[in-house]
Amino acid sequence: MDAAISGNVSQALQRIGPSLDRFVEGGADAVASAYVRGTVPSELNDLPETGIGLEGALDELSVAIEHGCRIGSPGFLGYITTTSTTIGAAVQAAVAVAGGQRYLLHAFNALEWTALRWLAELCRLPEGVAGVFTSGGSSANLIALGAARQAAYEKLGIDIAQGGQPAGSPAGRIYASERAHRTVHRSAAVLGLGRDAVREIPCDRAGHVDVRLLAQAMAEDSAAGLLPIATVAVAGTTDTGAVDPVGDIVDVARSNGCWVHVDGAYGLVANAVPDLAPRFAGIEEADSWIVDPHKWLATGLGVGAVYVRDQGVLTRAFAEGEAAYLEGSFSPDPSTATSQFDAMGALWADQSLELSAPPRGVLVWAALLEIGATGLRDRIERHVDFARTLADLARAHDELELMCEPDLSIVCFRFRSDQPGVDLDRLNARLLERLRRETPLVPSSTIVDGSFALRPCFINPRTTLREVRALADAVVRIGRELASAPT
Ligand SMILES: *Cc1c(COP(=O)(O)O)cnc(C)c1O
Repeated sequence: MDAAISGNVSQALQRIGPSLDRFVEGGADAVASAYVRGTVPSELNDLPETGIGLEGALDELSVAIEHGCRIGSPGFLGYITTTSTTIGAAVQAAVAVAGGQRYLLHAFNALEWTALRWLAELCRLPEGVAGVFTSGGSSANLIALGAARQAAYEKLGIDIAQGGQPAGSPAGRIYASERAHRTVHRSAAVLGLGRDAVREIPCDRAGHVDVRLLAQAMAEDSAAGLLPIATVAVAGTTDTGAVDPVGDIVDVARSNGCWVHVDGAYGLVANAVPDLAPRFAGIEEADSWIVDPHKWLATGLGVGAVYVRDQGVLTRAFAEGEAAYLEGSFSPDPSTATSQFDAMGALWADQSLELSAPPRGVLVWAALLEIGATGLRDRIERHVDFARTLADLARAHDELELMCEPDLSIVCFRFRSDQPGVDLDRLNARLLERLRRETPLVPSSTIVDGSFALRPCFINPRTTLREVRALADAVVRIGRELASAPT
């Protein structure tokens, strides 16, 4: 018998359960551990010839859990990332045991359809869009831009996914603001367009693309014979949380016959909040959209979603093609299925990058089932309020500077001092380092208009107003110390 089929799931989960609970409560710190430097304790380094068994492996896992990744702690405010809430942990266990593949015919696979529909409804996407869950925003952007490239060349009678790019056909261009996520550039690289094919359009200070300059760039490129593949509208930039003027972008793109892609990995779901929806006006006119449930929905990592208006183009761009190992293994008519193995079910494998994949949408379905649309709207409103509160604190305080107005839940601000000889960029960079080392408050940083900015992002369900105020206080306290003792 294979040793790995011994043991039972609930006992295994019970064995690691206390470590997981302690971790969530913030117990045990990783500071002294080898793991914090990204290395593994030496006794676990060598490939074991003889395994230590289920219980032994679970006990070592418990040690790793204590030194796990703390992006879910209330004071972690960096980048745009957080971990799952309790339901996500339970769903991950359920998916591991009973989720299997996202193909075939079963409950988990069926629930993905529901999740795709719910998510589209929350983001107020148009009726009839086709979606697929992905591993995150990176692959979602790649899929959307792959579909856009397919559509653009099809207009010239070229099936680029099938035949590649014929000699003499025009080079493609993608338009995106200079604040667009670098996964747009990587998508261009992977698609064979090249990173340089992304024409970066300048933004205002807060990070909204300048639509006049976009129009100018598209006109220049059109005169030069380049083919517009997609214009990316960012619905919540990673630096400042700015939402591009999507409606204006759509107008310019349309007059150039260009696909519009909305990168809403972080922000698109805020369109569910009526007070915020006006910022997103025009998104329903786009051709493709992405949103990352592993951000504001806090499903836990590994869940993005991409939607397109026309599923056909997605299939033409991403179909695996027929294969002897698949065709003929299933009944041609799934409506007569009596076994879950009678049909492949959803053809998501032909509309994305993966064949084998877990039914990730179940995380979305369960998270929304737990708190409902209202629960999610409340969370987003609360986080946007945190951002406004911090912005107000920064505006009101002589020693703080708000660097741009927040559109959503990211705030860019910094400590400032009138003392002569203080280099504010350097001071704030050191301040950030001290926040990380000395406090539980961990924002990340960016550059606004050439200046270093502290940049907290509020998407973490565990963060409270206490952390927001504590961050402002800590920045003032540490900033004063650094300003009075410049090195
Ligand atoms: C986070 C993010 C991405 C990348 O998504 P991952 O899930 O990290 O791969 C792309 N675009 C924007 C605007 C993002 O905020």
